[in-house]
Amino acid sequence: MARYTEAVCRLCRREGEKLFLKADRCYTDKCAIERRKYPPGQHWQNRPKPSDYGVQLREKQKLKRIYGVLERQFRRYFEIASKKRGVTGEALLQLLELRLDNTLHRLGFASGIRVARQLVSHGHVLVNGKKVNIPSYNLRPGDIIEIKEQSKDLQIIKESLEKAQHRGIPSWLELDAQNMRGKVLHVPSRDEIPVTAREQLVVELYSK
Ligand code: SF4
Repeated sequence: MARYTEAVCRLCRREGEKLFLKADRCYTDKCAIERRKYPPGQHWQNRPKPSDYGVQLREKQKLKRIYGVLERQFRRYFEIASKKRGVTGEALLQLLELRLDNTLHRLGFASGIRVARQLVSHGHVLVNGKKVNIPSYNLRPGDIIEIKEQSKDLQIIKESLEKAQHRGIPSWLELDAQNMRGKVLHVPSRDEIPVTAREQLVVELYSK
């Protein structure tokens, strides 16, 4: 599976904000952004102000990193989004948000997107009663996501679920924590997606 191998906290520092790539650590004061609020590298103070293109590029990188998606797949999401009715940027975010790995993370079954991806690809997750091991699987309203019976005792899932319940579950999802089951209630609207990236800039970048 293709993935980023660069030290993940550097990615957050490069973007100047928390991208929540390191599970529990991101919610503690050990977070690198809390400790060093400046970009990695020695000459960051001398960097020129970025061009419009540079800013658009950064927003795209930010989104790719938050959802752990590489360029080719990201571009494909954009193409699908641009054919949908409505605002392309919002449709792009909705496609990313409704990936199985992301939804698993939002439901609290995984402390981060990487852990979620592992749970899916190792076969711990069912969608509508059937095993799905494709992290990018696109969910729809009404879909039921469930931890496989034999995997419900996994400590990593139990701990994550407990912590996530304190943080809250997004309103487009429903969680039955006791049975380790969740449901997609509706396609999330922009204000239900907790991502600060300016998706319109990504649309402008790809529309050039
Ligand atoms: Fe980003 Fe998490 Fe590392 Fe903080 S701890 S810099 S949010 S990956």
